[in-house]
Amino acid sequence: MSTTALSPEELTKLIADLNRLAHNIWWTWNQGAQEIFQDLSPRCWQNLYHNAVAVLHEVSDYELRVRLQDQEFARRVRQVLHDFEAYMSDQESWGRQNAPELIHNPVAYFSAEFGFHETLPIAAGGLGILAGDHAKSASDLDIGFIGISLFYREGYFQQQINQDNWQVEYYTLLNPQNLPLEPVLDAKGLPLVCAVEIELTDVYFQVWRVNVGRRAVYLLDADRPENPPHLRDLTRRVYGGDNTMRIMQEVLLGIGGVRLLRALGVQPSVFHMNEGHAAFLTLELMREKLAAGISLSEAMAKTKAQCIFTTHTPVEAGHDRFSRDLIGYAMRKIATQLKLSLDDLMGLGRIDPKNDAESFCMTVLGLKLSRAANAVSELHGQVSRQMWRALWPDKPVDQVPIGHITNGIHLTGWMKGPVRKYWQRKLFSASTPSSPSGGETTAFWRSTPSMPLEKEFNSTAFWQKMADPGFISDEELWALRYKLRRELIEFARRRLGLRQFQSDFIAYDLLLDPDALTIGFARRFATYKRAPLVFDQFENMVKLIKDRRRPVQFIFAGKAHPRDDDGKRFIQRIVHLSKYSDLKSHLVFIENYDIHVARQMVSGCDVWLNNPRRPLEASGTSGQKAGCHGCLNLSILDGWWREGFDGTNGFAIGADNHPSSIEEQDLQDSANLFRALTEHVLPAFFNRDEHGIPRQWLQMVRRAMVTLVPQYNTWRMVQEYTKKYYLSKA
Ligand SMILES: *Cc1c(COP(=O)(O)O)cnc(C)c1O
Repeated sequence: MSTTALSPEELTKLIADLNRLAHNIWWTWNQGAQEIFQDLSPRCWQNLYHNAVAVLHEVSDYELRVRLQDQEFARRVRQVLHDFEAYMSDQESWGRQNAPELIHNPVAYFSAEFGFHETLPIAAGGLGILAGDHAKSASDLDIGFIGISLFYREGYFQQQINQDNWQVEYYTLLNPQNLPLEPVLDAKGLPLVCAVEIELTDVYFQVWRVNVGRRAVYLLDADRPENPPHLRDLTRRVYGGDNTMRIMQEVLLGIGGVRLLRALGVQPSVFHMNEGHAAFLTLELMREKLAAGISLSEAMAKTKAQCIFTTHTPVEAGHDRFSRDLIGYAMRKIATQLKLSLDDLMGLGRIDPKNDAESFCMTVLGLKLSRAANAVSELHGQVSRQMWRALWPDKPVDQVPIGHITNGIHLTGWMKGPVRKYWQRKLFSASTPSSPSGGETTAFWRSTPSMPLEKEFNSTAFWQKMADPGFISDEELWALRYKLRRELIEFARRRLGLRQFQSDFIAYDLLLDPDALTIGFARRFATYKRAPLVFDQFENMVKLIKDRRRPVQFIFAGKAHPRDDDGKRFIQRIVHLSKYSDLKSHLVFIENYDIHVARQMVSGCDVWLNNPRRPLEASGTSGQKAGCHGCLNLSILDGWWREGFDGTNGFAIGADNHPSSIEEQDLQDSANLFRALTEHVLPAFFNRDEHGIPRQWLQMVRRAMVTLVPQYNTWRMVQEYTKKYYLSKA
């Protein structure tokens, strides 16, 4: 026995490595790593919302040492650590081959929100999720990349639905010690502190680093004792407070972010603004040049050559605008440093610099001071060129310099853990048929030690195999669909059962039907997304749902912005229908939509419903998360789906056009939605052969995997950004 026991030194090393692992969110897209933290304390894992750092705090050093003497457990830990090391040190990366110059002079990617994982709720929606996925893929591809954002002490709000079915928001304080965050220290080992000027005050900030695989995202935090209380609260909430709070947060992000990079000694080759929130970074880049004695016009030209801008929405409210008074108040000192009068400063954020009626628009600033700009889908590109054409008055609209790169998702991060393992097993057993069974990470890595999983999952060739019944049979695919649907239903039952006051109405263990066609809708409750559209055909819907031979059910989730009462009314209507109408027991609303809820839903649903008012859904990404789980999209031809849909890989609502009147559009779309459901979706799902298998449905599932998964991921997306924008100096 004593020969196999680990020495105290070996234990100390393993524990240190485990801590390092917990502080790198690589574990959020590695199933083996998650299982280790889960096994250490299953209850903490669940109660602390899958937080590896918190689990390690819960388990004593003594217990860890004892547990690691379990040889099988220690073997798994070593394997995961080995996988992690192999990932971190891989030299044959796409980035090294295709963008070596970015390694030393990285892309600095500024975003007001980053969605990484459910334990770090500092994203409000799709924009932040996309930023997180961008960072993860930059790490996988190994391109030079540094993310900049804010650390919000209270994150984005948590949602509860009260007895009136009304959304109430509450906030919980995040503890950085219990999160995958590391304080950024100066040479003396003390917190690195920088400052920005807001109004006439110096606002100090410290910084937290999120290790995202091989890359880092830095979060600025104004909660410093040097600051007066109202400024310590500056980074309390995602988009918290009023416009004054907003502009101050954006000064901190943009100007503070550049100062941080300088303090870290980083010289980015390109600054990528993820939407207008970050656009003040251009002013700091100009200030630096002015301070070096460069003329204003040259400083502007040089700044422009360093920056690129991505616009994310045609919705007017998504473009920050500040009044002259507010700019004058918040930017007083900065304007002086720039040697700009308030009017000249205002001009940078106006389409017509001389037009006093125009407020200061962050998108305009971003567009004016970028060498290139892009939208996030083809249609959104068209819409954006139209929307911003006044900035290029001498160009015809189709030559307005706003291109597009269609969004994607970080596939291995979004794939549900067991599914990732399942495909991995498939991948492995298919490539080496005589290999030992088990097919876990272990065997996979032994066979191809320097081949990170994402390179394989990134390959069109792997997903192409989904068309082959010899690779995966209909029966097996259907079994996977059943397993995922059941997992979602049990998740929903558990979540809904936690809500005491509703228990008078429903026995939760009987809620939802594991055999039913399960239709999911989960996203922000912005009104243009029209969450309740499907219930506009209420009588028809009730009839449809009453057909016992063809059970159908709906699962909804989503948050409305705290100040969006119309969005809250949508929630209220749906929750009400779920409790009191004939749809009861066929419709549920899950509270507190976040990354975890999203993952359960996109994997467990059979159909992913998306019915925005076209063309307002710039891209949308939740539907992209569905494909690898075999969930089919049923969507308006807007955003990414207009490009993804090919007639065989899911369902379209309506055609590739839309009427100009909103009333007309809503009427048409709800009729088209109902028609698509009854004429296409239900017949395909319930058409079973003598073995009970829906062959036609599964054929579509295969087509969705073959055509969508290799295309709508952020590996493809970040490669496009790199080739089109990061490397080319326009
Ligand atoms: C994917 C995702 C989104 C974005 O989804 P859309 O389809 O763009 O609305 C928003 N919130 C969460 C939590 C997500 O996971």
